Amino acid sequence: MAREVRERLEGRDRQEGKAQRIPYLSPTERVKRLGPEREALYQKNTTPLSSSFVRLCIMRAELVDGPVNPTREPVKDSPTLTGEIKGLARYLGADLVGVSRLQESYLYLENDLPHTHVISLGLPMEHGIMKTAPSRKSYTEFWRAYNDLAEMVVHLAAHIRGMGYSARAHHVRAGDLLLIPCAVDAGLGELSKMGLLITKKYGPRIRLGAVSTDLPLEVDRPVDLGIQDFCEKCSKCARHCPTGAIPEKKTWVRSVRKWQVDGERCVETFSKSFGCGMCIRHCPWNKPDTLLHRISREAAVRSTTARSLLTKADDWLYGK
Ligand code: SF4
Ligand code: SF4
Repeated sequence: MAREVRERLEGRDRQEGKAQRIPYLSPTERVKRLGPEREALYQKNTTPLSSSFVRLCIMRAELVDGPVNPTREPVKDSPTLTGEIKGLARYLGADLVGVSRLQESYLYLENDLPHTHVISLGLPMEHGIMKTAPSRKSYTEFWRAYNDLAEMVVHLAAHIRGMGYSARAHHVRAGDLLLIPCAVDAGLGELSKMGLLITKKYGPRIRLGAVSTDLPLEVDRPVDLGIQDFCEKCSKCARHCPTGAIPEKKTWVRSVRKWQVDGERCVETFSKSFGCGMCIRHCPWNKPDTLLHRISREAAVRSTTARSLLTKADDWLYGK
């Protein structure tokens, strides 16, 4: 969650027509900006297990980059190479993998990367645990997923450097990239009203990591899951957000029309109540992978009428 909160906070600083690249502040620095009282609450809510996941992520910040093998493996052909790299990411544990071209606007202000592509990795959080959000369990689950992703991207980047190509890992505690736009471009899912990525299989119950590289890979296409239309009809996350951080209407942000979540309001609740996650918990796309929900998702992707019916059915079955 910290990654998304950071992105939301940074989104607040952006204005249309202004700098396309934005300053980087770590989640810890962001929380410090809330003052000592809030910071103490944030620390208090950290369970021993989630603390160890956070510490492991911090340790992996040292491992995101390294020397590149001077003997470069020749690339056979780009589609085969892309398939192998995606297969390796899945072998390491990623559930969703996609490739996009690196855009300068996805870099933080002071950072520069000599890379051309981004490999985005997604890992779901347990549905049963996220139903309890906000709780110590759900907070630990956020960090369990982030920690697993940190390990995967560090491994994948090291493997690519071993092939003789530059590569850098990006995870929640060490990243130069905005992960959500990269994942959208790589076809992992769509941006939603709550400001998070919604994937077809897991909805918003997903965490992200990435590897940037100069390996010549095949890029994926963004997907249209009908989320923009679904979110227009739904607003459940906005109704359940305890601070009103999620807006009903879209605004222009960096020349893109989107729902702009108020990151400062969100982080305030986030720091006091186990990472909050009420928006994820109540989203109609956050359902277990049963036959009924698979059929519902297919219908929602294909038909605007189905989207209208499903938002009403979700209210009726699971409450408004
Ligand atoms: S529901 Fe909680 S986590 Fe989601 S935007 Fe609102 S405050 Fe943030
Ligand atoms: S709860 Fe509804 S409005 Fe919010 S992100 Fe999910 S589908 Fe969109």
